Amino acid sequence: MIDNRLKKINNWVFDLDDTLYPSNPELSIQMSEKICDYIQEVVHVDEETASLMQKSYYLNYGATVCGLVVEYHIDPHDFTRRIHDLDFSCLTPDPELREYMQKLKGSKYILTNGDHNYAVKVLRQLNLDDLVDGIFAIQQMGFIPKPSPLTYRKMLRTFDIDPRYAAMFDDNQKNIYGAKQAGMYAVWVASNDFNKSHGLVEDPNFCDSQTPDVVTFLKKMFDQK
Ligand SMILES: [Mg+2]
Repeated sequence: MIDNRLKKINNWVFDLDDTLYPSNPELSIQMSEKICDYIQEVVHVDEETASLMQKSYYLNYGATVCGLVVEYHIDPHDFTRRIHDLDFSCLTPDPELREYMQKLKGSKYILTNGDHNYAVKVLRQLNLDDLVDGIFAIQQMGFIPKPSPLTYRKMLRTFDIDPRYAAMFDDNQKNIYGAKQAGMYAVWVASNDFNKSHGLVEDPNFCDSQTPDVVTFLKKMFDQK
């Protein structure tokens, strides 16, 4: 049975990485290497320490850059400028996802803890850029990432969204719980094993719905209408 609340949704908010495309090891490796090089250069640590810092900051601060800002006072704009020059050809557009996103009534937004420029490039590579009405990335967040309640509030205010009529999709449990607490209809995208075992939220009602991927959810939603 389709949730009645979904029928009234007119704002669709999507996380980007591991939500609008499946986990992509090739892209992750490129990104990790850039971040580790940056940490080694700026914080003056060896490769192994840089790699540990990258992972622990990502888990504890929601984005590696935020950990570096808090712990080492780095310039976050310098960081984002330098690490997102990546080869995106490993990402493949999903025509089915495009079709379903086109069918969604209302506005579509991206809420990502990643860099704004990076989000633009990923969306372009996925052939979804023309379907998105706005991107709220780490810069717009003022480098305060999800799941901070401030971030959802700021995004909702910026795009003039009433959370009662908004749905959010995210692969991270803490982030989707944050969206639910902000009043949005929260769909957890259980896309990869890492996020099934990290960031686990104790509240069993941390989301309103869950799906292995966005297409499966939207297909079911449209089929039941
Ligand atoms: Mg994600």
